[in-house]
Amino acid sequence: MTFTQPRLPYSVDALAPVISPVTIDYHYGKHEKAYIDTLNQLIAGTKYEEMPLEEIIKQSEGKLFNQASQAWNHILYFFQFSPSGRREPEGALKEKIDEQFGSFEDFKKKFEEAGATLFGSGWVWLSADSDGKLFVTQGSNAENPLTKGLKPIFVFDVWEHAYYLDYQNRRAEYLSKLWDIVDWEIVERRYQGEE
Ligand code: MN
Repeated sequence: MTFTQPRLPYSVDALAPVISPVTIDYHYGKHEKAYIDTLNQLIAGTKYEEMPLEEIIKQSEGKLFNQASQAWNHILYFFQFSPSGRREPEGALKEKIDEQFGSFEDFKKKFEEAGATLFGSGWVWLSADSDGKLFVTQGSNAENPLTKGLKPIFVFDVWEHAYYLDYQNRRAEYLSKLWDIVDWEIVERRYQGEE
């Protein structure tokens, strides 16, 4: 099986000014594409060729894990945004956020803090376990909570390539602006297991 980079469900300028078209061109068009191209090269002719991407992530390590996980992480990242979605959670996810973090505002603060304090390159995750309990975690490089039995439902990319063209070294500002483009209907569907 060859993995195909999914086309973005919005135009290249749809997330501006939070994420500029230039950043989309590089981040989606070059970085994410390179992870998927390299993944396809690495699995060709191996036992991984017929596996779903999640299975490759769980069963591989080293260079293959890095490429597979980065491919998956970027798809989750880019598909949680939209130019006109609902900007706050509702329903079961909102109730769980309130229960565990106090409020949506408190959750945002904790999530931004996790992103700002992550040393080096990586990801900040919101994941759920099979009981629906939520977890905010930091992961270095290509780390992925799938390997710990959690279901990731939301993520901020804190590799420099995600923000340097638009925000230079101001990672905290980039993190604080991302909320303006998150589509919580998509995150809720992931939480409910609908995608
Ligand atoms: Mn990235």
